[in-house]
Amino acid sequence: MISIDLGDITILDCDAIVNAANKTLLGGGGVDGAIHRRAGHKLLAECRTLGGCETGEAKITKGYNLKAKYVIHTVGPIYSSQKNQASLLANCYKNSLDLALKHDIHSIAFPAISTGVYHYPLEEATKIAISTVKTWLDMHKDYKLDIIFSCFDEKTYNMYQRYLEA
Ligand code: ADP
Repeated sequence: MISIDLGDITILDCDAIVNAANKTLLGGGGVDGAIHRRAGHKLLAECRTLGGCETGEAKITKGYNLKAKYVIHTVGPIYSSQKNQASLLANCYKNSLDLALKHDIHSIAFPAISTGVYHYPLEEATKIAISTVKTWLDMHKDYKLDIIFSCFDEKTYNMYQRYLEA
């Protein structure tokens, strides 16, 4: 099942939340900073052991002080600076979902990856997020997974609503 939530991803009560991280995995601004602040310093300590993350890839840690048991860290493409941006962004969703399956995660919340400081146009990013997630769910019909698109502002929420209804 797919749903949308307007608000802060760090307070959601689900098995995993996804972090729109940068390649260092050592924290940053936006949703990354918010997740690290609420999860506590042990999250950063675990992230230091991971050796960073390539664009489109995903790595998992515990959630520490979050309600979520896990954080899945993925690195979205920086808009304009990379080729194959659409497929890199799709890979973020796909690889995060593959990790969820591997770790028996049955509810997962995604932020709008790359649409903040990485400047991916919101409408394009929303279409990629929704189509990638729907394709993945179609390919894993026997696995029960609730997917929440966490939207931090109304503009994002309205965009997801529009394309989920379509
Ligand atoms: P990126 O570097 O991938 O663009 P950002 O963190 O700058 O990542 O932004 C990604 C999206 O996450 C943006 O839509 C931003 O508004 C949103 N965001 C920021 N803080 C939060 C939060 N606490 N919960 C959910 N979404 C958030």
